[in-house]
Amino acid sequence: MSASTAVAPKRKLRPARKQVAHGEVDKSESIQPGKEYNVWYNKWAGGDREDSLANKTLSQTRCIIARDAGYTRADATGNKYCCLFFARGCCPYGHECNYLHRLPLPNHQLPDNSRDCFGREKHSDYRDDMGGVGSFNRVNRTVYVGKIHESPDKKQTEETVLRHFGEWGKILRYNILHGRGVAFVMYESEHNASFAKEAMANQSMDGDEILNVRWATEDPNPGEKKAEARRVQEEGRKAISRILDEDLVEAAQAVRTLEEGEEQDFYHIEPSKSDHDDSDNGADGVNDVVERPAKRVKSGNGFFDEDALDNLKFYAELAKKQAEESQERVKERKVPPKPAAKPAGMASLLGGYGSGDESD
Ligand SMILES: [Zn+2]
Repeated sequence: MSASTAVAPKRKLRPARKQVAHGEVDKSESIQPGKEYNVWYNKWAGGDREDSLANKTLSQTRCIIARDAGYTRADATGNKYCCLFFARGCCPYGHECNYLHRLPLPNHQLPDNSRDCFGREKHSDYRDDMGGVGSFNRVNRTVYVGKIHESPDKKQTEETVLRHFGEWGKILRYNILHGRGVAFVMYESEHNASFAKEAMANQSMDGDEILNVRWATEDPNPGEKKAEARRVQEEGRKAISRILDEDLVEAAQAVRTLEEGEEQDFYHIEPSKSDHDDSDNGADGVNDVVERPAKRVKSGNGFFDEDALDNLKFYAELAKKQAEESQERVKERKVPPKPAAKPAGMASLLGGYGSGDESD
């Protein structure tokens, strides 16, 4: 350990401190989930696993932002990902590290939103124990903190939790379940929550506890749920419209109209439609949607040969699947009534082309 333990003011021009010497950390302890560095993807691979034994062992190192943070090679190369080892207080590379050695700012933009702030791939679902990297289907800014050794004085416990967890970013809300050794801490951004989760895992605060830090499950507060549902829906729409170009969207809509006659579903792959339109299924909206693909088909008579139809069906299925997947997360979504009107024009126009497939 170096002697520079004095708290330094935040200065960008300071090189990051080497937190540990090479080989200082006992390797028998599982200190990090990424075991292999994949040079092709510039990331750590090999595991979103936690050693069950390691969860009961006090972490040997801890990050102290004021002492350890500083510039690294990442500041020169533009790498936007934070160093996982830095967060855990055990990066031996210091300023020579290829990852950032500082806290992610709330507005920190990652090149890939399917990864966490350490560059690890997120998953579609949380692990059963709510540990690990987390999910890309939900922005989770809240960590669960268990096994806190509480002080008899509630105020003291509160102060302790806020002091230790406030190190990793701005805390927006918190809730301490007194008597149960549990706290929920909500940060300004998911990156901070992610960082805090790694930084505080298996640490102790003022007592001799070994903290159990995990992702919090969904906020049962109806207001929060609604806001989150809206966000997920919007993200889903954006993702789908990014993948499908406009022509393809229209073509896919045409096929779906033909096969299912479910006009209201078009909204989910229509990039420009807002939530408001979703519930407003007036005559105007229905006509709009039916008309657009119909025009397209008129102008392209003979366009639907067998291959093209197969392609369209594939994309229609893809879009439908994606829309469904994004909807699955949205429990409180309003279901608009099914319009009775059938797209008669469409069916007659395309009637001949659909004869070869399984739909009738
Ligand atoms: Zn590092």
